[in-house]
Amino acid sequence: MIDTVRKADGIGLAAPQVGKSVKLIIVNLEKSGVPLVALYNPRIVKKSFNKTEIEEGCLSIPGVFGTVKRPKKVTIEAQTAEGKTVQFSDDGWIARVGQHEIDHINGKLIIDLIKKYTQGADIVKEWKKGK
Ligand SMILES: [Zn+2]
Repeated sequence: MIDTVRKADGIGLAAPQVGKSVKLIIVNLEKSGVPLVALYNPRIVKKSFNKTEIEEGCLSIPGVFGTVKRPKKVTIEAQTAEGKTVQFSDDGWIARVGQHEIDHINGKLIIDLIKKYTQGADIVKEWKKGK
């Protein structure tokens, strides 16, 4: 999964996206100087009342982008590869990517959340029609 996310130049990846039914996400913000992290069984234990709207895309739905409203700050609890439980709060990109990837684990995609498409609205329309 680490190879996949790096090769795709993605900032995050969840196991269901590569056909694995384990609760594992990768947050890859190496380009912003944050070490890559792999989180097992991640869940949001706290979220802020304040929300922000940011444009998101998804490796699973190429060419589709839109604005998604999410809590600005979240506290995520997860296990490391070594089985240690960690908990951390963030109000930046880790919070954003973390929420996006945790959604994948719970079977939710950005097309369920996008209020306004900035790109690829037609792709989604066709896709939903074919379902
Ligand atoms: Zn995604």
